[in-house]
Amino acid sequence: MLFTGRSFLGRVLLDISQNVGQKGFIVNYCKAATALRPTKAKSTRKEAQYFSDAKRVRAIGGKGGDGCVSFLQLWCNERAGPDGGDGGHGGHVVFQASNDVRNFNHVDSVLRAEEGERGSAKDCHGKNAKHSLIKVPIGTVIRNSQGQIVGDLAHANLMFVAARGGAGGKGNRFFTTDKETSPKVCEYGPTGEDLSYTLELRSMADVGLIGYPNAGKSTLLNALTRAKPKVAPYAFTTLRPHLGTVLYDDHVQLTIADLPGLVPDAHLNKGLGIQFLKHAERCTLLLFVLDASAAKPWKHYEQLMHELRQFGGSLASRPQLVVANKLDKDEGEANFEELQRRLQNPVLGISAKMGKNLGNLLDSIRRSYDRHKTDI
Ligand code: GDP
Ligand code: MG
Repeated sequence: MLFTGRSFLGRVLLDISQNVGQKGFIVNYCKAATALRPTKAKSTRKEAQYFSDAKRVRAIGGKGGDGCVSFLQLWCNERAGPDGGDGGHGGHVVFQASNDVRNFNHVDSVLRAEEGERGSAKDCHGKNAKHSLIKVPIGTVIRNSQGQIVGDLAHANLMFVAARGGAGGKGNRFFTTDKETSPKVCEYGPTGEDLSYTLELRSMADVGLIGYPNAGKSTLLNALTRAKPKVAPYAFTTLRPHLGTVLYDDHVQLTIADLPGLVPDAHLNKGLGIQFLKHAERCTLLLFVLDASAAKPWKHYEQLMHELRQFGGSLASRPQLVVANKLDKDEGEANFEELQRRLQNPVLGISAKMGKNLGNLLDSIRRSYDRHKTDI
């Protein structure tokens, strides 16, 4: 049917008004939300293969500008008095949480802010230096040199002043008094603070994929989002976390993180260890990916839970969803029922490679996310 501009608008308004409750605001509008599968081809650009999720930095505030000693001489008054201006303030080094960056690759290890300008004659004050604003990902935790947490940038645009710049020195005009009308003193601008910090990236995603190597985590992320982690049939193909975003048609975006696989005794630093689990610490939801075609996949779940418990914190008690992957294989089909029986949690059977049941998975993720998003 062809809509004219006005009738189409009328239709949209009607749709929305059906969802308006008695109190006048929109209710239950996102219940029917389904995820939009990306249709655009993924880019083939090679991305940097390094990824820094922790970084030691030294932050040095800018030096304040020096004050000036000067005396004004005019043609009619050779001793017109002191006129040395103050120096400008040095800049601060400031970390700001931003959605634009995902890691610390762009952060230099020594961060210097600009110096303030010197004061000059004729009461000219030096210019204040600009603060150097360094963008860091949301969820950056900042520790001082003693290892104590001093900052936690959990929301966009939160800032942390890492090193303050020196205040500008006063010029000799400032020191003029009734008794000392021609002071020959001024202040030097002090140097800025010089402090060391460790930046750590803790939260990146709403949903974290947890599983053994080769369970199909990267395949699943590839299927659900536009991220393109490498997929190959050997352990530890994924060496760093990858992020992908799912867009639901009510414009809610959920970020999914593919974390490197865990192996038994990962907490004793086997395999890649549990170092990447800190990314899962603030995920609203943990999505366990089990390889149903492997022998006794329920054992994998127990082992994964054991590793999470060893990591400590509240990770093991986080809301979970369990999926059994590779159901397209015969062994997967055979193991699935027993897996469902042995685990207390409901298990969703999918095939990431063939795209089977992914719509249901996206729905369950969204429902579970909506239920738990206020917990964190
Ligand atoms: P990861 O280590 O958990 O990230 O696992 P990958 O995504 O790299 O997958 C490991 C291997 O399993 C690859 O060869 C995939 O092609 C294969 N694979 C992943 N999902 C499925 C699936 O649903 N069915 C089948 N038959 N193979 C799969
Ligand atoms: Mg992988």
